[in-house]
Order: sequence, then structure tokens, then C-alpha cells
Amino acid sequence: LEPSFQFMLRVVTPGGVSTPEQWLVIDELAEKYGSGSIKLTTRQAFQLHGVLKWNLKDTIKSINDTLLTTLAACGDVNRNVMCNPNPEQSQVHTEVFHWAQQITTHLAPRTPAYHEIWLEGEKLIDSTELLKVEGADPVEPIYGPVYLPRKFKIGIAVPPSNDVDVYSQDLGYIAIVEKGKLVGFNVTVGGGMGMTHGDTNTYPQLGRVIGFIKPEQVNEIAEKTVTIQRDYGNRSVRKYARFKYTIDRHGLDWFVAELQERLGWELEPARPFHFENSGDRYGWQKDKNGRWNLTLYVQSGRIADQEGYQLKTGLREIAKIHTGDFRLTANQNLMIAGITTAKKAKIIALLGQYGITDGGQHSAIRRSSLSCVAFPTCGLAMAEAERYLPTLVDKLEPILEEVGLRDNEINIRMTGCPNGCARPALGEIAFIGKSPGKYNMYMGAGFSGDRLSKLYRENVDENEILETLKPIIHRYAAERDNEEHFGDFVIRTGYVKPVISGTDFHS
Ligand code: SF4
Repeated sequence: LEPSFQFMLRVVTPGGVSTPEQWLVIDELAEKYGSGSIKLTTRQAFQLHGVLKWNLKDTIKSINDTLLTTLAACGDVNRNVMCNPNPEQSQVHTEVFHWAQQITTHLAPRTPAYHEIWLEGEKLIDSTELLKVEGADPVEPIYGPVYLPRKFKIGIAVPPSNDVDVYSQDLGYIAIVEKGKLVGFNVTVGGGMGMTHGDTNTYPQLGRVIGFIKPEQVNEIAEKTVTIQRDYGNRSVRKYARFKYTIDRHGLDWFVAELQERLGWELEPARPFHFENSGDRYGWQKDKNGRWNLTLYVQSGRIADQEGYQLKTGLREIAKIHTGDFRLTANQNLMIAGITTAKKAKIIALLGQYGITDGGQHSAIRRSSLSCVAFPTCGLAMAEAERYLPTLVDKLEPILEEVGLRDNEINIRMTGCPNGCARPALGEIAFIGKSPGKYNMYMGAGFSGDRLSKLYRENVDENEILETLKPIIHRYAAERDNEEHFGDFVIRTGYVKPVISGTDFHS
């Protein structure tokens, strides 16, 4: 740790739900100890950047005091459990959120070391003793003494929205709602976005549906799946260690048999469902309890003040009077949820006072854009993402406007490296950084996140990107079938082949 003097802190917020009190603490910590801004991540978590080493303990303690935590926000354990905010289905959301919290708690590391180091906790056990324990680990019954071979990601989608990109998750749950009630979940396994440039043994993969379970079985499924990855994941070569490779190496049938053996019961056949999109729906919506939800577009998930657009200050003032909650979406946007009719007018006035809108003035492609942090914060970045994608969109907008596609949603994603934090393999147009100013360009992912994108051009700069995309966009405008999505169009017209399994991603 010695050479590092500033850090990024990620805060676990299951399902992205934060109370106004928690929002105010994160806001204050960003000012006091961080870079001043708050980053909403693609996994519905908060990030604080630029926290100096000597301020880490106070920052973590303040986060803990507000009933949030940084425990398991990083590391080779289960990460922040995502779930759809779903304002129109209040009761279903309440239940889905409940299960997201349950999974988070069930899979949280039990080690006392976190509390000992960061929260002045009493030392309960000598950690070197853990390695001597045979059989079940008394402290980490799920992870064991050496944890998982790699990080593990879980998300819960509520059709028709696939905003959590459920097929990108190591373990996914798809809510099955019958007659307005949550009856259970279809389970998906083996998704993941990361890969390594130049190594075709690494690839993004889609999760596959293996069956249906009842709501109260989610923890058991999560636990047994994690233990299978713990026992069979590749611990020799870290870049092959993700769960998707474990499944692809052994086969899906093997996994299902192993899972059912450990469960002692069988999954039911998967039930029908249908996804329509993977993006957010912006603006005001009234939920079934008569309360209001407002989804705001937040460019690259960055909560900061700009001239005429004082997002951070405005949200702070709203948090001071808001009695509902804030919901971080999987697309780095923000929902002010559960607004009472009595508070609605006040919140509208505050939004106006600080120049905050739902993003309706922006083009649809901008509102459908997703980028990772990349430079200057992420040490793995090879190219810009958050700081450059808006500029690229500036240059794509006139091309789209010229052909009447300003309001046409096209999912566009950019990451600074192939780790894929903004899920670029699920962008209808996607860019993965190769070196400063140069990207591999991908196209053809499914609008609802059910198909991977495919490499179309390698190592291209901005001019080459615009020269490549302009004729394709013109042709799309002229020849697309009614309501045909861009990703479907570039496949139908032969620009790229469809990729529905990661093992075909490089072929
Ligand atoms: Fe993730 Fe790579 Fe972006 Fe860093 S540069 S945030 S590791 S995708």
C-alpha cells in the first residue's frame, strides 16, 4: 500500500437503494475527503474518488455509521447485488429488493478483519489460525479461508426491463410475475463481460437460463453456486478464473447436475418471460401507491456541479426534504423515488432552481450511453471513456439528426480497457480502449441485452470511427424495417455476425 496515497472507495448499495440520509452522508464525504464529486457506477453503487490514505478510516467509519458499507464492494467475493428499480410495479419491486438484500447479507464475508482494521473492532480471532482449520471454515462457511478465485456478480431483472443486463451476471435471477404477483425467478448462470486483448481464450459470455425457483430459494441457489465456483474455479491463471470459464470448461449440464446434487432438489423448468429493453425510462411516473418517481439522466453517472446545472447541490437540497429514497440505476442514472404528492411541487421547484432536468433535451443516443471511469482514476485504463464518450456523442448527434434519428435509442458503450465495467459487449455500438485515442469497435448486440456485440474495426481513432459509422447510420435510416433496432439491423444487413455464445465472440 505504501506507494499509493489516494484511493477509490466503492460503497455497497444493494439494488442501488439509498435513503436521503445516506445520500447526504455520501455527498458530505465526497466534499470532505474525496474529489468533490460522486460517481454512480454501472452496478448501482457509489464511488468516491481521490480519498487520501490518512482519511480512509474516517471515511469508511462514516459510511458504516449510516448503515452502508464498503465490505465486499471489491475483492474476490460476491459484489453489489443489482436489481431493477421498477417504479411501476411497487409491490414486485419491494419484494425483489428484499431478495437482493437477502442475497447480499447471506453472501457477505463474515471475517472480523474488516471491523478490526477499519472500525476499531475488537480482534476476535487470529487470522493465521483460519488457514489451519480443516473442513468447513468457522469464520467463512461459504467462501472458506482463501475466498473465490475471482469476483462474483449477481443481478435480478424484472421483465420487460433488462436494465441490470442479467445475462452479463455470473448468476442472474429473472423475476417471474404472474397475475401481478412475484411467483419466483428463472435462474441464469455463467455470464460475464471481461476479456484480455489478444487472448482469444478470454471472451465475454452470456448467462444461460437453467430453470425456475421459488423466491425463498434464492439464497440457497446463490450459496451453492458460489461454492461450486469456489471449488472448481481456476486458481492457477487469474484471467481464466471467472465463473463463465468454469462453466464453459465443464459444460452447462455438469453445472446443473452439480448444483442440484448440492441442493438436494431439482429446479423446475424455466417459465416464459420477455425483455423489451435494457435502458432506463426517464421522467415522471406514478407508482401503484400513488407516489411519484422521477428518473434523471446522469451523464456517465457523475454527480457534480456545472455552471447552470448544479446537480450535486440540487440533489443535496432535495435529499434534505425528501421522504422517499434514491435509486441508483444500472445505467448510471438516478431515480428520486417515492415522492409524495405533497413534496412533488417542492422538488420540481428545487430541480428548476438548480437547472436539473430528466435529460429530455438530450438526444436518445446520449441518454442510452454508458461508460466506465477509465482515465484518470482507473489504473487499468488504456484509453479514455467517461471523459471522451460525451465528445464522441457530440459528433455522432449531427449525423443522426441529419437522417431523422435523434430520438432513436441506440445503446452505445465505451470502456477504457477490456475488463468491461460498462458492459460494452452488450452495446449495439461499443468501444473498448486499446491505447490513448484508439479503440476496438464492436456492433450488433441485442437492444434488450440478449446478444453480444462483434468486433467490426480494430484500433480506430475518432476520425475512423466517424467515417465508419456515418454510412452505416445513413443506411440504417433508409433501410431499417419498422422499429428495427440498430443492433438487429447491422446483423440483418451483414456488417457483423450474430454472437449468442461467447465462445463464438472471436471467430
Ligand atoms: Fe473497468 Fe477497464 Fe474501465 Fe478501469 S478502464 S473502469 S477496469 S473497464
